[in-house]
Amino acid sequence: MLFSIIRPERPRRKGNLHFVYAFAIDGAIFAGYHKGYNEVILLGFLQRFLYGRYGGDHLGRALIAAYLVLYCLALLTRLAPLSWAAFALAFWCIFRMLSRNTAKRRRENEKYLALTAPLRGWLRRRRMIRTDKDHRYFKCPNCGQQLRVPRVNGKIKITCRACGTVFEENAK
Ligand SMILES: [Zn+2]
Repeated sequence: MLFSIIRPERPRRKGNLHFVYAFAIDGAIFAGYHKGYNEVILLGFLQRFLYGRYGGDHLGRALIAAYLVLYCLALLTRLAPLSWAAFALAFWCIFRMLSRNTAKRRRENEKYLALTAPLRGWLRRRRMIRTDKDHRYFKCPNCGQQLRVPRVNGKIKITCRACGTVFEENAK
């Protein structure tokens, strides 16, 4: 374990010495600062450390979500392989965020987005349908076309704009 104090500095007001610190355990780098310290120096250090790193993206967020799910499952089931898989996902996510090969990481993200486009589109439509207070959404019983009608009290006749089928629905 490496422990290094970066630029210890006395605060302007009377008190103890405060300092920024960074240390590494098993290759993971942690950084922090003690209360009362000038945050600018920590930010400067982090900026230098993170300069040129890839950071977060859609794939990264999906990896974090999958990690959390697997982690909870591992806690519930006490199955060791699940916790290994969760650890692998967390490691992969951190590796990608700190990677300097941004072109390769961007390609990975694009591949992920292309693979999950149908699922994400479906989720977006579901969210829109749920949160739309002014309209109700129906599927045409004949062709499956999604149709949007304004919310009104009682039943209304809906004509499918794709195939012309007329059907009745409650549009409240
Ligand atoms: Zn239709």
